Amino acid sequence: MEIRVQEIFDRQVVQQHLLRKTTVEERIAKLKKLKKTLLHMEKAIFLALQLDLRKHEKEAAITEVYFIYSEIDFAIKHLRKWMDKQHKSASITNLLAKNWTQFEPKGVSLILSPWNYPFQLSMSPLLSAVAAGCAVVLKPSEFSPHTAEILKDIIHQTFPENEVTCLLGDKELATELLNLPFANIFFTGSPSIGKIIMKAASQHLSGLTLELGGKSPVLIDKTYPLKEAAQKIAWGKLINAGQTCIAPDYILMPKELIPAFVAEFAIACQEMFYNDAQNMDPNKYAKIINLKHLKRLKDLIGDLDESNGTILWQSNIEDKESFPATLVQLFNLNSRLIEEEIFGPILPIVGFETLNEALNIIQNKPKPLALYIFSNNKQYITSITQACSSGSVCINDVLLQVSNPNLPFGGINTSGMGSCHGFYGFKAFSHERAMMKQSKWSITKLIYPPYHNKDRIFNFLKSFM
Ligand code: NAD
Repeated sequence: MEIRVQEIFDRQVVQQHLLRKTTVEERIAKLKKLKKTLLHMEKAIFLALQLDLRKHEKEAAITEVYFIYSEIDFAIKHLRKWMDKQHKSASITNLLAKNWTQFEPKGVSLILSPWNYPFQLSMSPLLSAVAAGCAVVLKPSEFSPHTAEILKDIIHQTFPENEVTCLLGDKELATELLNLPFANIFFTGSPSIGKIIMKAASQHLSGLTLELGGKSPVLIDKTYPLKEAAQKIAWGKLINAGQTCIAPDYILMPKELIPAFVAEFAIACQEMFYNDAQNMDPNKYAKIINLKHLKRLKDLIGDLDESNGTILWQSNIEDKESFPATLVQLFNLNSRLIEEEIFGPILPIVGFETLNEALNIIQNKPKPLALYIFSNNKQYITSITQACSSGSVCINDVLLQVSNPNLPFGGINTSGMGSCHGFYGFKAFSHERAMMKQSKWSITKLIYPPYHNKDRIFNFLKSFM
């Protein structure tokens, strides 16, 4: 295996010299070819997502497959502008020169992707890398093997191996790849593995984008209709059974609103995910990826006792691969439910008396990937966004900030660094190069040594700086 990985990498390094010269038309042709393959393989992609996560076809369409179609179309539409020179003003020291910036591909790139949106989170960075003119090695997660196989097929049908290749394996393969001097690494996964990736990237000073996770809080204010908030949060929390990096992780709300919120959440959950009045429908509700994660979620609930929290409501389920939607009220912060990323359908609620109590909780935790606010009070919203840092903010809804390719998607510190989607994805695989062309007449020689008798010219320059 080692020889093969090294051989592919070496061939990509050679090919990268050609890829960096590709025109906008050539790159658009590659993106079109990719979309054509995806359309051709669409049914197989849905089936793989069904087998790995039991995703409903409509859910998979919206959150994974159509999402990528629109990202490809967006890149095709804007690539010419992204690749164009950006003219910049001159400064006093290069007054007559031409100044501009232009993006060049960073070079051979490694993409490591997770299992929760295994198609979207592999394809999104991949198409950005192709738009930017980079060769790519993709290693999808070993925990979503059916999607990994489909990704391999798609890539094999669309690209030569020395341009884009998909290698299947676990962390051993990832470790082997990380030893190679990739020019750029794009990692999506947990903050703990993110640290390993960052350390590995430092060996070769590779460019690095980290799309990580964490606990995304939701603040609900009494000015927002509870039924509406409960419905949106139930959707955002239970889609993919809570295994979403920007899923609402915990709720902070005025104590007195909790009982009404719980009742509305239960109704919303029943309307969206039940097959009858009794049980959640396995055809509408994704499964938990594996037994290890099912046990982890059970243990999180097992951590509760009368001193730290209680279950307020739990859905019924019949199948063994799902975890019930669960609402928990936490009485204090002595629980793993408020410490660890939940990544499942458990939603803890912390009631507060004053907004400051809630802000303190967020401020004392690692910066979240997303911050959700439900309020119709502008001042309330501003006081939260000013007090708390986060990768993104979504007001009066959840998850949808990720769906607009005009917005960057990424975290800050523990929740990540760098961003993706649309232009930001192209940028993650590009180096923005400063360019300057001197004119025939340069005034710079006036400042060359020797410096005697140059006071007047230096004073003149100083007045412009
Ligand atoms: P993970 O960190 O366990 O794995 C991600 C990738 O890293 C996989 O390809 C895996 O094979 C590889 N990997 C695992 N161990 C490794 C090691 N020791 N060395 C090198 N590579 C290794 O993450 P996961 O469990 O697949 O996904 C869940 C996490 O990802 C959650 O924390 C979630 O919040 C986060 N996530 C973030 C985003 C985002 O866009 N910010 C999106 C989805 C998921």
